[in-house]
Amino acid sequence: MQIVFIGLPGAGKGTQAARIVEEYGIRHLSTGDMFRAAVAEGTPLGLKAKTFMDQGQLVPDDVTIGIVRETLAKPEYRKGFLLDGFPRTVPQAEALDDILASLSLALDHVIYLEVSRETLVERLTGRRVCRKCGASYHVAFRPPARAGVCDLCGGELYQRSDDSAETVGKRLDVNLRQVDALLDYYETKGLVRRVNGEAPIDEVYRQIQDVLRGRPQ
Ligand code: ADP
Ligand code: ADP
Ligand code: ZN
Repeated sequence: MQIVFIGLPGAGKGTQAARIVEEYGIRHLSTGDMFRAAVAEGTPLGLKAKTFMDQGQLVPDDVTIGIVRETLAKPEYRKGFLLDGFPRTVPQAEALDDILASLSLALDHVIYLEVSRETLVERLTGRRVCRKCGASYHVAFRPPARAGVCDLCGGELYQRSDDSAETVGKRLDVNLRQVDALLDYYETKGLVRRVNGEAPIDEVYRQIQDVLRGRPQ
């Protein structure tokens, strides 16, 4: 099973992806998580990505496509994967088609998590992320059992620097046009499945399960 999640920052891609990959035993590939790990480790990739990320800009396509190509070629991805945050541009979507063709694979679903801008701002500014395992929390909508501590691994929760009120608006603007173009790209291929991402986390999850089980929406 090969799935793509499309949605603006804060739509709930990471939250839903964690549950889906667990249930279906497929790999979760988040380009945002990969970039953040590279920045934390200070690798050459991290140094390249950091300036763009800090400004809420996209990392250049050639850099992003390169790491995805390398990652998807690994044997552990042959059981299936969920792409979260990639592709984000039409050139990335075209490159993904090439990568999949070279692996004799095809996408099964492109799931679009639809959420209003107002809600996205609320979600992003209240988001807290585990430093150790990357799990996503929210101060009001999904608080951890103990403030500042990850329920799953006990890691420390922190606020991403690009989730500050100043950067959030910029990120939404940068991504809005790209998401529309991506939806057009995948609509023509008949792959887009729309999910109401505004609903509570469990309800969004049920909708995604319906899509993956091939139930009519
Ligand atoms: P993305 O990966 O799309 O940027 P996340 O999964 O990190 O988004 O979710 C963004 C924020 O919104 C997090 O704080 C998360 O806990 C919260 N969140 C995710 N889904 C929902 C939902 N359905 N309702 C309320 N809050 C949510
Ligand atoms: P969110 O969906 O919450 O914005 P991500 O964790 O997916 O956050 O991405 C964080 C940052 O990493 C983005 O703002 C961008 O700078 C970079 N990034 C992630 N995925 C891509 C991508 N496919 N193309 C370009 N840049 C990316
Ligand atoms: Zn954790």
